[in-house]
Amino acid sequence: MSVLFPAVAARSDRPALRCGADSLTYGELARAAGALAARLDGVERVAVWATPTARTAVAVVAALLAGVPAVPLNPRTGERELAHVLGDSAPGAVLAGAEDMLPEGLAKLPRIDVGPDATGPTPGTGAVTGEKDIDPESPALIVYTSGTTGPPKGVLLSRRAVAASLDALAEAWAWTSDDVLVHALPLFHVHGLVLGILGPLRRGGEVRHLGAFSVEGVARELGAGGGTVLFGVPTMYHRLADALPHDEGLVRALAGARLLVSGSAALPVRDHERIAAATGRTVVERYGMSETLMNTSVRPGGEPRPGTVGTPLPGVELRLVDEDGSVLGAYDGETVGEVQVRGPNLFSGYLNRPEATAEAFDGDWFRTGDMAVREADGAVRLVGRRATDLIKSGGYKIGAGEIENALLDHPGVREAAVTGEPDPDLGERIVAWVVPADASAPPSGTELADHVAGLLAPHKRPRAVRYLDALPRNDMGKVLKKALCAAGSG
Ligand code: ATP
Ligand code: MG
Repeated sequence: MSVLFPAVAARSDRPALRCGADSLTYGELARAAGALAARLDGVERVAVWATPTARTAVAVVAALLAGVPAVPLNPRTGERELAHVLGDSAPGAVLAGAEDMLPEGLAKLPRIDVGPDATGPTPGTGAVTGEKDIDPESPALIVYTSGTTGPPKGVLLSRRAVAASLDALAEAWAWTSDDVLVHALPLFHVHGLVLGILGPLRRGGEVRHLGAFSVEGVARELGAGGGTVLFGVPTMYHRLADALPHDEGLVRALAGARLLVSGSAALPVRDHERIAAATGRTVVERYGMSETLMNTSVRPGGEPRPGTVGTPLPGVELRLVDEDGSVLGAYDGETVGEVQVRGPNLFSGYLNRPEATAEAFDGDWFRTGDMAVREADGAVRLVGRRATDLIKSGGYKIGAGEIENALLDHPGVREAAVTGEPDPDLGERIVAWVVPADASAPPSGTELADHVAGLLAPHKRPRAVRYLDALPRNDMGKVLKKALCAAGSG
C-alpha cells in the first residue's frame, strides 16, 4: 500500500509524462526523481512551486519517494494568500525550476532547483528505493482547498488515502496502463495533481499535460493523437461545447476518446447535452474534494444522467443526513440532506486546525458541507453547498443548481449563477446573476424569471436578475458566490 508507484520499475522505456517540449520515460522519471529525493534528506516538509510543467511532477514524485510531505503552491497566488499558506505550512525548503522567479515570500526559504536535469536523462542508479518502508499513514501531500468558501485550509493527505482513491477510480473507470491521459488543469489541487499526475503514474500509463488549456490542444492530443482519457473542469467542457459545431477535428477527437471526465464543480446540463449531441459521447461526472479525494462517479457506459454525480466509488460509504442529524433512508430524488462520507479515501485532518477537524467529523463520518438528494437507483444528485447554494425562501429549501441549469436553458443566457439574499417576507430571496449571450440585447429579468418558473415551479422564480460581463471564478473555474453576495450587498 505504501508503494505509490508500483509500475515504475517495470516500465522503464515506456513514456510516463509529456509536457510541452519536455518528456520523460518511466526510467528517466525514476532517475530524475530519485536523484532529487536524495537532496531532500533532512527536510521535514517541502513546498513545490507547482507550475504546469514536467518539473512539478518530478518534484512531487521526488518528495513522495523521499517520504517528505509536499505542499504544492499555486504560482498565481497573490501575496496575501501565499503568506497565509507559507505561514500555515512552514516548509523547510522549496522545489522550483532553476529559471522560476519566486516571489519575495519564498525567497527566504532554501531553494532546491529542479532541472533542467530533471526533465531529461540523469545519471544515477535508477532505483526507486525506500518507498516501501514509509508509513502509509504518514502525510504524502498537504493540499490547500480551493478557497471557494473561505481562506484555503491545509488538508493532510496520507499515502493510504491517495492510493485508495486512485485504485477506486481505476476500478470504476477501468483505468489501465494503456490509458493516455490528456489534461490541462493546474497542478496544485487534488484534481490536477493527484488524479491527473499521480493517477496515470500509479497505473503505469502516460500523461500529456497541455501546459495551458486550449481547444486546439485537446483536439490534437485526444483520439487520433493517442490520448484516450480527458480530465477537465466544467469551464473547459463549456469551451469545447462552444467549439464543437464548427470543428470537425474536435468532434472526431472527443468521439474517439475512451473516457471524458468532468469534476470540481457541476457541469451544466446544457453542456452535457451539447457534447453528447455533437459527439455521441457522455461526459462522466465525478464528485470529490480535497479532504476526501474522490467520493462518487458516474460509471462509463451507463445511461447518461446529466445532473448526477453517480454512485459511491468502491470502498466509499456515503449517507445523507438532515438538519436534526437523522440519517435519511429514502432514495426518493427529493429529500435533501448533507453528504457525509467515510472510507480509506479520507484525509487525516486539517493542518494546525484541530477544532475545524473535530467539527468536520460526525464520528468517523466526514461532513462534506455539500447538499444532495439520492435518486431511486442510489445515484447522488448534488443540490449545492450548504453555505452558499441552499436558499431558504418562503418555507422552501431551494438548491441553486437547478435554477442555474434552468437559466442556462434560455438561449439568451451564456453563464448563470444563483444566490440567496436576505428578504423581509421570504427569509431569503432568489437572485440570478446572468452573463447574457449577447450583451447588446440581454433577455429581460421578467422573461428570465418567467422562464425559470415555467420550467421548475413558481417558488423557484428569481426575484431579481442582475447582469454581469463575466462571473467571478477562481483558478479551478469555480464561481465565487461570496464575491457575488458581497457585490449584491455593496
Ligand atoms: P473551500 O473548501 O476552501 O471553500 P472548495 O470546497 O471549492 O474550497 P475543493 O476541495 O477543491 O475546495 O473542492 C471541493 C468541492 O467542489 C466539493 O465540496 C463540491 O462542492 C465541489 N465539487 C466537486 N466536484 C463536483 C461536481 N462534480 N459537481 C458539483 N460540485 C462539485
Ligand atoms: Mg471545501
